[in-house]
Parts: sequence; C-alpha cells; structure tokens
Amino acid sequence: MKPQNLLVVGAGLSGAVIAHELAVAGHQVTVADARNHIGGNCHTERCAETGVMVHVYGPHIFHTDDEEIWAYANRFTRFRPYRHRVQTTTQGRVYSMPINLHTINQFFGAAMRPDEARAFVATRADRSISEPQSFEEQALHLIGPEIYEAFFKGYTQKQWGCHPRELPASVLRRLPLRYSYDDLYFAQRFQGMPEEGYSAMVAAMLDHPRITLQLGCKITRTEAKGFDHVFNSGPIDGWFDHALGRLGYRTLDFRRFTHQGDYQGCAVMNYGDAEVPWTRITEHKHFAPWEEHAGSVLYEERARDCGPEDIPYYPIRLVNEKRMLADYVELAEAERGVTFVGRLGTYRYLDMDVSIREALDTARLFQICGSGRMPA
Ligand code: UDP
Repeated sequence: MKPQNLLVVGAGLSGAVIAHELAVAGHQVTVADARNHIGGNCHTERCAETGVMVHVYGPHIFHTDDEEIWAYANRFTRFRPYRHRVQTTTQGRVYSMPINLHTINQFFGAAMRPDEARAFVATRADRSISEPQSFEEQALHLIGPEIYEAFFKGYTQKQWGCHPRELPASVLRRLPLRYSYDDLYFAQRFQGMPEEGYSAMVAAMLDHPRITLQLGCKITRTEAKGFDHVFNSGPIDGWFDHALGRLGYRTLDFRRFTHQGDYQGCAVMNYGDAEVPWTRITEHKHFAPWEEHAGSVLYEERARDCGPEDIPYYPIRLVNEKRMLADYVELAEAERGVTFVGRLGTYRYLDMDVSIREALDTARLFQICGSGRMPA
C-alpha cells in the first residue's frame, strides 16, 4: 500500500497503538486529542508536592493472559512487578476482595476449609434461580443474601446509580468467587505497573518522526474529511453530533487529598455500605511499591451519570443504550473511511490489554485491506 495521510482521533491507548503501527508501516499520522495530555483515561502524572505517580483518572492495573500483548507493551516501558489486592470496608469491618475463603471465614466468624465453605455457601445461595439474568439474581444465586448485601448491593447501587436488579448479570461475572486464600484481584498470568506510569508508555508509542501530535484539538467530522482514513477513538455518538441521542455513561468525581505517611495501607479500599457516599478510596503510592514517598496522594471516588461536559468513564449498556448503540453502529458502518475503535469509539468497557489487542489487529487489518474492517 502506498503511504497514506491518516488521522487518529484520541491519544489514549487505542489511538497510540494504531498511530505507532501505521507510522512504522510508512504512513503519515496525525494524532489529535481534545485534552491537553496524552494517555486518555490511563493518563498518569507525578504529583509535584509528594512525588507520587498519580493515576489521574482513577486506578489502572495492567493484567493480561495475552502473551503477545504483554510483550508488545513491554517494548514501550519497563514494567515493575505489581500484584493488585483490594480491601473493602463494610458494616464497620475490613475484608478482602474479591470474595475468597478469608472473606467468607471472617464474615461468618468461622474457620471453614474450602469444601466446608462451599457447602455452607450453598445453604445460603438461592439455587432455585436457574439462569440468573440480573446482577442481583446472579449474586443471590452464587453467594446468597448476606454477602450480596454487605459487599455488592450498596457498592453497585453507588457505582451504577440503579438497583442491581436492573443491571445485567455480566457485570458481576467480572469478579471471581474463590474458595481459597488467593486474594489477588486479577488472575491473569502477566501483571505489572509501568515504571514511569502509563503516559510515559503512551509517549514512547507516539514517539515517531511520522507522527504529529495535536493536543487540545477537537476535530469535527468535517475537518476529518481531508484525510485518507480516520481512526476515531472518541465517542461514537459524539462523532455523529448525538443525532440519535446520547449514549449513557457513568462519570467519576474524585476528591483529591494528601496525607503524611500511609493513609490506608493499601492501594484500593472499597466501601460496601450504601450510606457511605464514595465507592472507594485510592492511595496512589501503593501502585508503585518500589518507590518511597513520605507524602501520599488519595482519591475519594464517587460515580454519577455523565453530563455533556463530563468525562465519560463506564458505558452503561442497559437495554435503551444497546438499542441506540445498534443504530449508531449502523451509521458507523455506512461511514466511509472511518474506523471506530476503543472504549469510546465502540461503547464497550475495555480492559487495557483488550484495547491494545484490538488496536493492533485494527492496524494490521488496515495494512492488509486499506480499511479498518474485514471486506464483506
Ligand atoms: N463490585 C461490588 N463491590 C465491590 C467491587 C465490585 O459490588 O467491592 C461490583 C460493581 O458493580 C462493579 C462490578 O462488581 O461494577 C465489577 O467489579 P470490577 O472491579 O470489575 O469493577 P470496575 O473495573 O468496573 O470498576
């Protein structure tokens, strides 16, 4: 293919991978981002006061079973060993998340072995629900009302702004239930934290003579017409000026505060009680256990519905959104010369490794057939 003049909208992970691959392949790539920094929502920045590396838009932990993606990410940064563990405060006590044998024994004041705990939980769980549809049914079916109410009900209500019976069971299926003392949040083979943060990793991807970076630059659909092909990692509904309505997102508000010493002793503390308004508190220095800092930076996190001026985080994907998304996808498929990628471009909640995988595959496909889609 002869070199093309390409536009990538969004300097987050998806955009950076596509820009990198296609610049290396010989194309001229302009990367435009409406914000004045790279990295999208995985942007990281050192706090000038404490020196702590802050995950500016909330915690991001790289975890994958995809060996090629792990090797790929390691080309752009040195990953330091990091194993994510989460604690949760509920009903005045602290427990380990995801639910494991320790959580179950502590919660029920018992000393059960795996088989005993399994048999005990079976007496609490509602197994009459044969095919759980909602988050609530899934939780009751799996673990019963006590654990559901202490750890999931309040948290989920705060996180999603609706009753767990309105959410699909798939939201809970992201989390494991373990009858062992394995308290790692993620089970994937490869896990780590980039030594100098995610933005440094993304900067290394964008560091190529054929890449031009334009920050603080909001590109319209009309402006994009001058390019041979566009990869849009911005919101799919925004691209079409919300012609079919606004897709629902949850946004996050962070109350940032600093502390001398160690505030909570762990990176992430969840709060299960409905009465506590925040969902979790993140202590950023624990994401970099190889660094030493006397000061500490914390984020108290609350979720709410995303307004037009807010930063979108979690696609809501309830029935209405799915219908609207299907209509936008139809528009997107008819849009010549534009490929929609990433969390916002495809309106899906993507882990970082999946974003990289899909971006890499998209770039490869473009090289083969000059479009971001498989030929019909
Ligand atoms: N969840 C919960 N209590 C917790 C942690 C998670 O109820 O302490 C629920 C919540 O609804 C969340 C879902 O489980 O959206 C999936 O958890 P995960 O950690 O994957 O959340 P995310 O990455 O979406 O923040």
